[in-house]
Amino acid sequence: MGKIYIIDVTNRDGVQTAKLGLSKLEKTMINIYLNEMGVFQSELGFPTTKHETNYIKANLELAEMGVLQPIRLGGWIRATVEDVETTFKLVPKLKHLNVSISTSEQMIQGKFLGRKTKDDITQMMVEAVDAARSHGTESIGVNAEDASRTDLAYLIKFASQAKLHGADRFRYCDTLGYDNPFTIYETVNALAKEVSMPIEIHCHGDLGMAVATSIAGAKGAIDGGQDAYINTTVNGIGERAGNADLLATVLAITKSKGFAGKYKLGRPIDLSKSWKTANFASYAFGVPIPINQPGVGANAFAHASGIHADGVLKDPQNYELYDYTELGRGTPVTVETGREICSGEYGGISGFRHIMRKIQERMGGEIEEEIEEKIEVSFANAAEAEKILELVRYANVCAQKPLVEDELLFIAQYPDIARKLLTLAPLS
Ligand SMILES: [Zn+2]
Repeated sequence: MGKIYIIDVTNRDGVQTAKLGLSKLEKTMINIYLNEMGVFQSELGFPTTKHETNYIKANLELAEMGVLQPIRLGGWIRATVEDVETTFKLVPKLKHLNVSISTSEQMIQGKFLGRKTKDDITQMMVEAVDAARSHGTESIGVNAEDASRTDLAYLIKFASQAKLHGADRFRYCDTLGYDNPFTIYETVNALAKEVSMPIEIHCHGDLGMAVATSIAGAKGAIDGGQDAYINTTVNGIGERAGNADLLATVLAITKSKGFAGKYKLGRPIDLSKSWKTANFASYAFGVPIPINQPGVGANAFAHASGIHADGVLKDPQNYELYDYTELGRGTPVTVETGREICSGEYGGISGFRHIMRKIQERMGGEIEEEIEEKIEVSFANAAEAEKILELVRYANVCAQKPLVEDELLFIAQYPDIARKLLTLAPLS
C-alpha cells in the first residue's frame, strides 16, 4: 500500500503570497524546523530568482554539513528549458526540482492567448524534463497548474509523457481551490491507475477545503496503487485563501475517522515541534495565528461552558480529540513585562552580550555543548563577538523586527552560512 509524504511549500507558495514575505534567514529557520519535524521535502524557493541564489546555495551547504538532513530541498521553476538552464547556472548543486506549466483550457487560452496548443504545452514540459535530467537532477516533479480545471484525458496524456521522460512525480494542482473531496478523489484515483506514477496533491483554500481535498486526493492516489505527496504550508499561509495547513493535514492523516491507521505517512512527523514552528512562522510572517486554528490556536484546548468544562476535567477525551502535549504545548512561555533589550540593526556590543547571556541563562543545561562553546568563544574574544553582532545587525535590516533566540543561536553557530544568507548584492 502506498504511503503519504509531506512536501512543504511555505518557502515557495507561502512567500509568494501578496503582502507577505520572509527574510532569507527566516526561510532558513523554516527549513530547519521542517527538518526537525520530519517533513520529507521543503520546496525552498525559486532558483531562477537572483536574490534567492545565495540563500539556496547556503541551504544546500547546510544539507552537505548534515544540518539540513534528511529533508530534501527542492526548487520550483517554470517548465521551460531556459528556466532549467538558468537554474543550473545559478545553483549547480540543486538536486530536486518541480517544473510547472498551466494545463487547463482556461489558462492555455487565457495566458498564452492562442499562441500555444495543448501539444505545445506537453512539448515544452518534456523538453524541460529532458534538460533537468541532463543536469543530473535526482528527482523531478512535473506540475500541472490548474489541473482541477483541466480535462482528464489531457491530464493523463500530459502526465504519461512526463513519466516517459523520467519525471518522478506528477503534481496535481488544484490551483484555484475548485475541487471538493469527492471530485479530487475521482480524478487523482483515475490518474494513479492510468499513469501509474506517484502523485503530488497541491490544494488551495478558496472554498475552505484545502486540507479535506488534500487527504481525499492522497486517498485517491493510494487507492490507485501509488504513493501520495501532499503539499502543505505552515499555518496554511499561501496564495489568496492559502494552502493546506501542515499541522491540520498531519492531524487529519493521523487522527481522522477511517483514515488514521489505514493511510500512513511514509516518514513520521514529530508533532511536538508544531507549536514552535507555527509560532515562529506567525512571528516571521507577521500574521497572528487565528484563535480557532487547529492544534495551535489559542482556543484549540480552551473550555468554558459548564458541560464541556466538567466533561474535560473528568476525562479530557470527552471533549478533546488529541492531547495538547503531543503538539509541544503546555510549557509556560515567559513574556518580558519590564525592561527589555532587543536585537536591532543599530544595536551595540553591550546590548548584544546581554541578550546572548540571557539566552544562555534561560536555556541552562538544555543548551547544546557545541553551541555553548561557540558562544563562549565569541564572548571570550571581542573580535569574534563583534563579528557575530555585525551579522545580527544585517539580519535585523532584513527582518525589521527583533530576532528570535533560535535565529541568534543560528548566527552564532554558523556565522559563515549566515553571511551568505545576508548577502544581497544587486549591483555586483
Ligand atoms: Zn499554490
